[in-house]
Amino acid sequence: MRRRLVIITVAIAASLILVGWVGLTFLPSPSLLRLTFFDVGQGDAALIQTPDGQIILIDGGPDRTILKKLGSALPWNERTIDLMILSHPHSDHVSGLIPVLERYRVRQVLASGVVHTTPEYLKWLELVRDKKIPLTVAQAGQRLELAGGVAVEVLWPVASYAGQRVGDLNATSIVNQVRYGATSVLFTGDTPRENEQVMLEAGADLKADILKVAHQGSRTSSSEEFISSVAPEVAVIPVGRHNRYGHPHAEVVERLSKLVHQVLRTDLEGDIKFVSDGYTWQRR
Ligand SMILES: [Zn+2]
Repeated sequence: MRRRLVIITVAIAASLILVGWVGLTFLPSPSLLRLTFFDVGQGDAALIQTPDGQIILIDGGPDRTILKKLGSALPWNERTIDLMILSHPHSDHVSGLIPVLERYRVRQVLASGVVHTTPEYLKWLELVRDKKIPLTVAQAGQRLELAGGVAVEVLWPVASYAGQRVGDLNATSIVNQVRYGATSVLFTGDTPRENEQVMLEAGADLKADILKVAHQGSRTSSSEEFISSVAPEVAVIPVGRHNRYGHPHAEVVERLSKLVHQVLRTDLEGDIKFVSDGYTWQRR
């Protein structure tokens, strides 16, 4: 009787080990979302690769550096970007998106639609129009669903800027969350403190695990109240080495260091990469 029990126990243990081995060897690895903040100098560019292989590019930095970055981050034969987001038309966000439009097939664009007449923004608009890429005008409350449980939620602008001229282009910056499972990241463009205040007063759900710090860490953004409401674990400042604006401002870095567990800068770290399994983020 006792011997039989031992045999059964050993058999059960052996099958469990076998099932575990087969699982580890043949089943696909857990679905990961990849997030990269590129070091493109003084400007912003972030890439998201969803578990289903869809690609989101948020801003393109000030020049063609982004092409090299995309070339090494994406599979060699990848020539499609599913969603391109232009936070606002300043050159350090839009210029790099021009060669990206020329080289990649872009399926959808999200932008504010604001009127602005710099050559780089006009060129970008012309390419979007010529390539007949559907352009969604951003407005708070929009939720763009991607495959694999990834969603983009727009928090700013509260009213559409389509066809409007605006004095301060930074104020038109799209603010959006990207969510995957229980994990999230907040993109802020160059949104100024006045907009932060409006979002706070409107009770917007700003909470995110990772915050892309607005406007290269300028003191015109990132109020204490805003950072506290986002309550991120990590704040990432995309900023150029020895830039002439003195970004990031020391007081913003100090504020972030006080409120956020980890503050990272592309001028010090180069490209900054994370992966999410839907539960938690890991630095890569
Ligand atoms: Zn700007």
